[in-house]
Amino acid sequence: MPNRRMREEFHGDLVTGPVPTDYRTETNKYEIQCAGCGKRYYVNTEMRDDLEHAIENDVETPFICSICQEAENDELAYR
Ligand SMILES: [Zn+2]
Repeated sequence: MPNRRMREEFHGDLVTGPVPTDYRTETNKYEIQCAGCGKRYYVNTEMRDDLEHAIENDVETPFICSICQEAENDELAYR
């Protein structure tokens, strides 16, 4: 069924670029901690470098996971 395959590929495209995962993968092998909930995530070299830059520049929350980010957005929406 070619249609079904195309739909799956399209769905895969919804994830744009590298994203932190909560398990170690071949590319996501650097462990980081969410500044919001303290949950551990794994990122690739690129994201790790970004994070180190953020830490060097004294960014208070270098990494916030998508769950905390959503919670934060919800909070802002209520203000
Ligand atoms: Zn979090």
